Amino acid sequence: MNTKKRFTLTMLAGIVTFCLVIGLFCIPSAFASQRCFKCCGSGVWHTDNKIPCSGKGCNYCIKCNGCGGSGQISDSAKRCGYCKGLGQVHSGKKACTGAGCNGCTPCKTCNTKGWVGS
Ligand SMILES: [Zn+2]
Ligand SMILES: [Zn+2]
Ligand SMILES: [Zn+2]
Ligand SMILES: [Zn+2]
Repeated sequence: MNTKKRFTLTMLAGIVTFCLVIGLFCIPSAFASQRCFKCCGSGVWHTDNKIPCSGKGCNYCIKCNGCGGSGQISDSAKRCGYCKGLGQVHSGKKACTGAGCNGCTPCKTCNTKGWVGS
């Protein structure tokens, strides 16, 4: 009877330790990131708004330099106020066509990443 009880306690302690370890490794990484402002978490950046994005394997999609293709950026990163997270700043009378816009200049404040901080 006694040994059975001790075994159950050891089991419980083991489960608690296991959960703590999992929590320590998984929770911080889950909370330490947010969706990239530039690609909205997709990891890719479609560069020609005149041509609809065909999704995976699209010729006009490039790896997002804001997040390095992961779609996630650091939780402490702040949206760049100068380009509003786009990584580029539009000037001129024509409407902005998006990522591959000719009237846009790369944002120097965030170095085209769309966010500032670390
Ligand atoms: Zn595309
Ligand atoms: Zn991105
Ligand atoms: Zn533009
Ligand atoms: Zn910027």
